[in-house]
Amino acid sequence: MTPLAQALIARINRTGPISVADYMADCLLHPTLGYYATRDPIGQSGDFITAPEISQMFGELIGLALAQAWQDQGCPARFSLAELGPGRGTLMADALRATGSVPGFHAAAEVHFVEASPVLRKAQAKAVPQASWHDSVTTLPEQPLFLIANEFFDSLPLRQFVRSGDGWREKMVGLDGDTLQFGLSDPAPLALLEHRLEDTKDGDLVEHCAALPAIVGQIGGRIDRFGGAALIIDYGDWQSQGDTLQALSAHDRIDPLAAPGQSDLTAHVDFAAIAQHAAPARFTRLTTQGVFLERLGITPRAQALAKRLTGDAKEAHIKAHRRLTHPAEMGDLFKVMGLYPQKAAPPPGLEA
Ligand code: SAH
Repeated sequence: MTPLAQALIARINRTGPISVADYMADCLLHPTLGYYATRDPIGQSGDFITAPEISQMFGELIGLALAQAWQDQGCPARFSLAELGPGRGTLMADALRATGSVPGFHAAAEVHFVEASPVLRKAQAKAVPQASWHDSVTTLPEQPLFLIANEFFDSLPLRQFVRSGDGWREKMVGLDGDTLQFGLSDPAPLALLEHRLEDTKDGDLVEHCAALPAIVGQIGGRIDRFGGAALIIDYGDWQSQGDTLQALSAHDRIDPLAAPGQSDLTAHVDFAAIAQHAAPARFTRLTTQGVFLERLGITPRAQALAKRLTGDAKEAHIKAHRRLTHPAEMGDLFKVMGLYPQKAAPPPGLEA
């Protein structure tokens, strides 16, 4: 049993079953026993690998897309180049290298990171020493905001509800003896899920991310007021339907209750919820990662890089290009949505 499992069992014995969101929050961010609080989980030796760690092309193209959006909006003299959940800082380091030759971009950019994990903040400081760190989006400066969030929203705690008549039973984490187990609360009507009564039937499970509206609202508000753009990339779809909570340990899926604090927990992102809370900013059409990267020119970039490579390095590079873009790999599973001001064009690679 993990130390966090012991702590959770004691807590549930004391105060009763907890929501899936409370469970996820403790698993990921408990200050001493949480997953992100205690380790760097990303990469071959960790539990999962992300797009910026697969190839430098990912961060380069995103950096250039944000620089293009900055130019399209008249090159504001001071702006936040921000990232939510920057992991090891690889994406931003690649983005900064690629944008070094964009006139005036670096002089105008202030790098801001929103990051909860002290371990990952250290890695980020090595990769991007000039960054400033924030605990939440609320303290991002009141100025133009050009922002990237890759695999950030999938790690926010979410609640799960099972439709029961015109009400909902919340999925809870409780105990069977001294083992963690899922159960359901008594049914109750819920205003926040009123709109889901139309597209669900008895027994369907829907997910609700409590932190998402405020985070998206803060970003959308700044972007519309001061200018800017956000690129939100994650796995998920237009609307959540069904149980998407998953745990990963050493690149394998495991039972989400099996190793609290020692496995990564994520869920699909509900992009309809992002769209719903973006106002007054506008949101783009949801686009697959494969199509988005193609539109940004990943193939010519891959060919240019391939010219300098031989042997195993060249093979790995070709594989990485395929992994990021091919529909059977990350190309279709991962989606991109942009946010942009009422009076500006959508960011490169995306459509209104
Ligand atoms: N974007 C990176 C890392 C993805 S992993 C990449 O693509 O490689 C998720 C990241 O979000 C980690 O950096 C994690 O520490 C951070 N994170 C998770 N929950 C968070 C929260 N509630 N607030 C701030 N950062 C969080």
